[in-house]
Amino acid sequence: MELIPFDQRDGSIWINGHFRDWKEVKIHVLNHGLHYGSCVFEGIRVYNKKIFKLYEHVSRLFYSAKKLDLNLDFSENQICDCISNTVKRQSINNGYIRPVIWRGSEKMAISAVDSSINIAIAAWPWPSYFSPKKILEGISMSTSKWRRPPPECAPTDSKAAGLYMICSLSKHEAEKNGFDDALMLDYRGYIAEATGANIFFVKDDSLFTPKADCFLNGITRQVVIEIARNLKININEQYIKPDFIENCQEAFLTGTAVEITPIKSIDNFSFSKREITIKLMDEFKKIVC
Ligand code: PMP
Repeated sequence: MELIPFDQRDGSIWINGHFRDWKEVKIHVLNHGLHYGSCVFEGIRVYNKKIFKLYEHVSRLFYSAKKLDLNLDFSENQICDCISNTVKRQSINNGYIRPVIWRGSEKMAISAVDSSINIAIAAWPWPSYFSPKKILEGISMSTSKWRRPPPECAPTDSKAAGLYMICSLSKHEAEKNGFDDALMLDYRGYIAEATGANIFFVKDDSLFTPKADCFLNGITRQVVIEIARNLKININEQYIKPDFIENCQEAFLTGTAVEITPIKSIDNFSFSKREITIKLMDEFKKIVC
């Protein structure tokens, strides 16, 4: 399938209170968000015309914006309505929504407190992040040389665009070496997450996931923990050292984009089973569809 570049598509994008033609929404090259990373965003899914966890995503969007000093003129409820209207206007049945907030182009300097704060919402049809074949097989991962920074060095619990610099570097490196994604350790050397998703392991029928104290506590991660609790699966949120992987039988990623994606291997280690992962995938499907 030919991928149409994102600036060449048809439809409308909601920006600062109005719908505009998709191809006409542009920002200037001298933009604070672009140069200094003053930008936050969200990724939200639509399943059968219904927006999954809309309020939770909008609430995180506002939390991220506040962390970066980006104060909007809109309320959370107004943005929820604008997102719903964008999905309707774009006639999305199953797709993805990308709200983004950024500082404008009034000042080209580190300090730009009086600059405009802008918000846009785009939505497009999108079936799955990895191909159905990949999801069936499980993805391969390699450990990145880049590490998640400590919360004292960056707003690590926000969805700030700047934090994705090391994610792109890690994913590019993994793909260049034939892997599907990268595993990122944190600043202490514990397992953190993937480049755009959280990670879980299964060891002897119990679930293990890293404590989310220096990376995004994903909304999907929280849903999966709730599903596991309902299924009476033992779940442990704890610090996980890299050598723990070799004691595990299963592993999977969770995230709005990847949903629940089984992991086939990490570096030279291959996982032997997929039982609990499939159980959780089935339950997750029941919730979202
Ligand atoms: N970590 C990172 C770095 C992400 O980009 C995402 C996707 N938003 C996640 C974790 C998972 O978060 P969620 O389940 O809320 O999509």
